[in-house]
Amino acid sequence: MEIDVKEIIKKGPIYSGKAKSIYEIDEDRVLIEFRDDITAGDGKKRDVKRGKGHLNALISSRLFEVLEENGIPTHYLGYIEPVYMVAKRVDIIPIEVIVRNIAAGSLCKRYPFKEGEILKRPIVQFDYKSDEYGDPMLNEDIAIALGLATEEELKKMRELALRVNDVLRRFFDERGIVLVDFKIEIGRTKDGELVVADEISPDTMRLWDKETMDILDKDVFRKDLGDVVSKYEIVARRIGCL
Ligand code: 5GP
Repeated sequence: MEIDVKEIIKKGPIYSGKAKSIYEIDEDRVLIEFRDDITAGDGKKRDVKRGKGHLNALISSRLFEVLEENGIPTHYLGYIEPVYMVAKRVDIIPIEVIVRNIAAGSLCKRYPFKEGEILKRPIVQFDYKSDEYGDPMLNEDIAIALGLATEEELKKMRELALRVNDVLRRFFDERGIVLVDFKIEIGRTKDGELVVADEISPDTMRLWDKETMDILDKDVFRKDLGDVVSKYEIVARRIGCL
């Protein structure tokens, strides 16, 4: 891939989020930088963890490749050492699409599910991506009324999320990891195609060791359970990135 990262970065990011910065390559492509910043609670808790950006760029790139290999459309175009991903330029739909296989996190805070309870069938949940409003859960009518997506798009997003779950759940299971839940973001390409975008990393998933039930994701940071980077390293090793 003939991309001069230094030259692209010089112009400054077109967008900078809590853990990633986005740079323009050209009309059709962006360069995503995975930074070492880590945040939780809508940015209220924050820190910098050396090496996290590298691991998330590696893991995210590998997982997008796995999705593509399984026929799922994504924004992914390639990985550039050490912290960069090249992606198709898309309009991100401001909906966090969450899929859950096992009850954890906010599901157990809001509803009478027991932490660790295996769900009979996956739950797909749409949250409004908005720090200002605290990422409130959406229903279809609210999402449509807000003009976030059409009814047809919401249906496709649900189908896409369940396909991602099928592929990633199997992929992790074969590598001794339980995919508890995850969040994806979906974008519209120039041609109006819906593709999985943003990142898929231990920042956006819950991953438990199948044998020990050890937590291998951002909950280690959220709950102060120890060295988060060493856990991400385990994930990267298991899925063949290191
Ligand atoms: P929960 O709703 O239980 O907090 O999160 C469910 C899953 O989606 C977890 O894997 C969590 O990491 C991910 N998730 C939900 N909201 C966000 C968010 O705003 N940012 C990130 N990085 N992940 C999220």
